[in-house]
Amino acid sequence: MIDAERLDKPAVIQWLLARGELQEDLFRQARAVRQQQGADSVLLRGVVEISNYCEKPCSYCAMRCPNQALPRYRMRAEEILAVAAEIKRCRLSTVFLQAGQDRACDELLEEIIPQIKFGMGMNVLLCLGERPAEVYRRFAELGADSYILKFETSDPQAYRDIARVSPHHRWECMGAIRKARLRLGTGNIVGLPRQTLESIAEDFFFGLDVQPDFVSAAPFIPNEGTPWEGFPCGDLDVTLNLMALWRIALKRSFIPAVSALEKIRPDGQLRGLNAGANVITINFTPKDFRAKYAIYSEQRFVVSLRHALHTIHRAGLRVRHEAPVLAAAETYPPAPEM
Ligand code: SF4
Repeated sequence: MIDAERLDKPAVIQWLLARGELQEDLFRQARAVRQQQGADSVLLRGVVEISNYCEKPCSYCAMRCPNQALPRYRMRAEEILAVAAEIKRCRLSTVFLQAGQDRACDELLEEIIPQIKFGMGMNVLLCLGERPAEVYRRFAELGADSYILKFETSDPQAYRDIARVSPHHRWECMGAIRKARLRLGTGNIVGLPRQTLESIAEDFFFGLDVQPDFVSAAPFIPNEGTPWEGFPCGDLDVTLNLMALWRIALKRSFIPAVSALEKIRPDGQLRGLNAGANVITINFTPKDFRAKYAIYSEQRFVVSLRHALHTIHRAGLRVRHEAPVLAAAETYPPAPEM
């Protein structure tokens, strides 16, 4: 059994390169840890991509601010609440609100977070980018439970290549999310242009230092109309091996089998569950908006509830039934009928 406390950088690189029997052994160990931690069921969450406006220029993403060819949208409160109600009808307990870094959403969130959390009794997960510390505190006061802010890469120069700025402000934001008492999700991208295995191994240790509640490894997907459209996809096996190592070392953290795994290879998410993941995000964004949410690729794989349930069944796992958040439901007005 791998002793996570004794893993050093050369050992991590060796495990990232594992293939065949050695890789299957790594995955077996990751599944054993997941089972020992009582985390052997899969959390389903429903995502709504509420805005594709973004003020950042990330080199891999078509939603970057300089891309004037992309039609932009920001959903209205009633549209978002209608989708949240649909997520609840499907018996999921978490509504995941995702957007580009679009501060204009914050007014909208004043209205919709309490409606979803207290009116509908759902958990609220946010992924909206960098904000001042007081805004994270405000999101928590409104009823948000968790916030995802990926570190993308632990290498400061590589982060500058993505975002044109130093990562230090982003790291401070991760601390502010924690201080706001939101559960913290983070993660990296595997296969960024010029990224080395050493750098991915550093990402592994960075993840251990953060001790996140959720952690993801996502393969790089080249995206049309971006400066990095000509680079190859990230390596699926390296991504899966990193997920397995994080499972073994972080033990209880939720680890998603992200949709980009399936984009690289059919059954990619099944491989992710076999490597120790225990979360799948189902896309509930209405079709007209979804086509414009171009964070990874226009031809991204869109995860349906049916696909998720089929994948979980094939992995021999079951769906995790989280208790809905009903504590303060009576003290808030009910969500409007839709
Ligand atoms: S990755 Fe996120 S922050 Fe960067 S340009 Fe795309 S939507 Fe904006």
